[in-house]
Amino acid sequence: MYTVSMKSMRYTIKDFQGDFPDEASCLIWLKDYLYPDGIYCKICKKITPHHLMRTRKSFSCETCGHHVHPTAGTIFEHSSTPLTLWFYAIYLMSATRAGISAKQLERELGVTYKTAWRMFHQIRSMMGDDDDNLTGEVEIDEMYLHADPKKRSSVKPHESQVVFGMVEREGRAKVRHVNSSGVRVLVPEIEKSVDNSAVVYTDEHGSYKLLNRRGYEHNTVNHGERQYVVGRVHTQNVENLWSNMKRGIKGVYRHVDPKYVQAYADEYAFRYSHRQAPSMFWSLMSRIDNR
Ligand SMILES: [Zn+2]
Repeated sequence: MYTVSMKSMRYTIKDFQGDFPDEASCLIWLKDYLYPDGIYCKICKKITPHHLMRTRKSFSCETCGHHVHPTAGTIFEHSSTPLTLWFYAIYLMSATRAGISAKQLERELGVTYKTAWRMFHQIRSMMGDDDDNLTGEVEIDEMYLHADPKKRSSVKPHESQVVFGMVEREGRAKVRHVNSSGVRVLVPEIEKSVDNSAVVYTDEHGSYKLLNRRGYEHNTVNHGERQYVVGRVHTQNVENLWSNMKRGIKGVYRHVDPKYVQAYADEYAFRYSHRQAPSMFWSLMSRIDNR
């Protein structure tokens, strides 16, 4: 079952504050993470000792004085916001199950909404999934996000957005914003993302009827007949992902702009995929250099 255990949140705020009390500790962490074997100086043409230049967010070569900026190529590049605030924002976005909004970041960090919004989207850009196909037991389901007619939103009330989820019971998830739940959209998505050797579980939605013929071992749970779990045949994991995503959108985001549905989808897929990781904070930090 998909539950975020307390274990995944055991990197506490105290741990965080101990690790990153100031700008220098953030820069040194970044340098050690990006250059585990030391910094190669392109002037000296070898790995040389480098010293932190606090005022310039850089490290300079002991021999020739050449500067290296460890924020280059990361989400922190071109930002005048202190790294302590960036790292704290990553901590906040990884510390709760349902996520946190740009508005909450604004309040917590004491930055402008514009800055918070930019940080929020940059951090979320690190949550995209990898290219490896899903394998093993895979649950597949589609979900419809309806616009709330009481809230201002660019989604018209009669429109809903289709979100399509594929989740390994023991591992990762991929969630896609698709333009229909028809067979011509969903089956190619499955073939793109789910290995042919996978055992696939779905409900009785018509778009999945082809899966046997496409080479998947396919089991169907008949929700129409109030069947939810028959032995291993169920879709509880993907349904739990949906309920977390809906709760997050209602509680945190309030309305869904179709422009951002894929980013929401990636965020919740990331949370699912890393639910067993010792710390979601470190899972995110390990992605700062490969957006
Ligand atoms: Zn040098």
